[in-house]
Amino acid sequence: MKNTMMDFQLTLAPMLERAGTLYPTVQIVSRMPDRSLYRCTYADLVTRVRTLARALIAAGLQRGERVATLMWNHSVHLETYFGVPLAGGVIHTLNLRLPAQQLALIANHAGDRFLVVDEILLPAFQRFISDAPFERVFVHRTGSGPFDRYEDYEALLKTAPDDCALPQLNEYDAAAMCYTSGTTGDPKGVVYSHRALVLHSMALAMADSLAFSHNDSVMPVVPMFHANAWGFPYVATMVGAKQVLPGPYLDAESLLDLCQREQVTLATGVPTVWMAVCAELDKNPRHWRVAPGLRLAVGGSAPAESLIRRFDAHNIRLIHAWGMTESTPIASICRLRPSLGEMSEDEQYALRSTQGTPVPFMEARVISRTGPVPWDGKTMGEVQLRGPWVASSYFNMPELGDKWTPDGWLRTGDVVTVNEHGYLHIVDRTKDLIKSGGEWISSVDLENAIVGYAGVKEAAVIAVPHPKWDERPIAVIVAGEPKPKPEELNDFLAKRFAKWQLPDAYIFVEELPHTSTGKLLKSALRDRYRDYLNGHFSIAD
Ligand code: AMP
Repeated sequence: MKNTMMDFQLTLAPMLERAGTLYPTVQIVSRMPDRSLYRCTYADLVTRVRTLARALIAAGLQRGERVATLMWNHSVHLETYFGVPLAGGVIHTLNLRLPAQQLALIANHAGDRFLVVDEILLPAFQRFISDAPFERVFVHRTGSGPFDRYEDYEALLKTAPDDCALPQLNEYDAAAMCYTSGTTGDPKGVVYSHRALVLHSMALAMADSLAFSHNDSVMPVVPMFHANAWGFPYVATMVGAKQVLPGPYLDAESLLDLCQREQVTLATGVPTVWMAVCAELDKNPRHWRVAPGLRLAVGGSAPAESLIRRFDAHNIRLIHAWGMTESTPIASICRLRPSLGEMSEDEQYALRSTQGTPVPFMEARVISRTGPVPWDGKTMGEVQLRGPWVASSYFNMPELGDKWTPDGWLRTGDVVTVNEHGYLHIVDRTKDLIKSGGEWISSVDLENAIVGYAGVKEAAVIAVPHPKWDERPIAVIVAGEPKPKPEELNDFLAKRFAKWQLPDAYIFVEELPHTSTGKLLKSALRDRYRDYLNGHFSIAD
């Protein structure tokens, strides 16, 4: 039987048009390099997006071709988020924190034709221009500096012909592209369809997800060059929410200043960002007047339970989400529900620091070497994903096909347990788990406990080779004041962990290595400390 529904394509176009029609006066606020705030509206955004799309078509952009961006979070970046896909192209957000050589590699691999770059990022761009593939470079001018070799982005917009029709889009057309942050191996390209971005937005907006509303003032602190700022700019536009874009200023005071001025109600960032914000709130609790009921989505790595508690004390709700570049990126969100029954306060906090349950239409299964794991909160397995916004391959890397199972599930590389209610708890990356004497030790659980101890700023627990136990954990720690003593830390951990799970060494360092997106770069630590326990005494002996 033929259904009677319209053939309506799920593309970014109606999301944008709705915002322009129903929310023309709602603002998009951008922090500029000189720290001033630039304001425009959804009506302005729609006009400029259409103009950009027409200008790109007139410049010869063909369907499916890539336009790269090298930009912070601001309204012009938002324009490209819609303008490039509406022209039939693919917006490829380059991660400005990557080394020049890697950026050149990525831009060439992606086959980027044009680039839109912030004027303040020209020095970063100049470091890889000689190896970059761009035919034309458009500069988003914010200062008065000359840039003779490149074109002015505003001048590009002026070339848009009035009579150029925008293409009819199909929901399976490619719309956006990101490269993974590369904790393991080289970055890999993921291409998002219009449909994936639309359905991801719908799932995120739902009440039991992040409950986006047109009443919200939404601030993506996650860079727009990292997994589409977790889709926040798209979802906020879809619901007509005010958007607050922090530009290059991601320090705690600048963010709290924006939260206060623009009465931000929903923001998203990695734990490091929120740790700095929380420290500033702890220091000056009366100084900042943020919106009541402010929600902060957190992900990218797991926040310590202590951080959730500390924010609660400021009446700010940290909401934990998990995902990856390959899943657009959000796959699960942690929200408690009444059917969980009575829970003590400690149980609630423990559950809130898990990665939660898959959002609607995201399917997750957890597989160990012996098959699906029981929902017992103990047995570990790799979580695998399937869903409308999960990648089915990497861009032009057929050799990496084994990232997917033969029956089509994405192997995430994240090792989890599942509790009786279906809440996922990440215990490690498959590559970071520590195997000591045949038993698994979770580096993440140890790290979370260690950062809960007074005077610890950041901690990484890694496996190092050991002659008897194969591998043993050691903790590498950045301390503040008072600097903890290793014996005290060990006593503290011994209350929560078995003796053989405790680190064999506590090493204090000035700083830990991170990836371009702020994740701990444990591979670098493993290299550095490879021989650390050679012949050393082990706690497991
Ligand atoms: P990326 O593709 O750069 O976003 O990295 C994805 C990886 O980051 C995931 O596979 C996880 O290992 C890690 N990750 C993301 N969110 C979380 C989270 N909430 N808790 C723990 N790890 C996370």
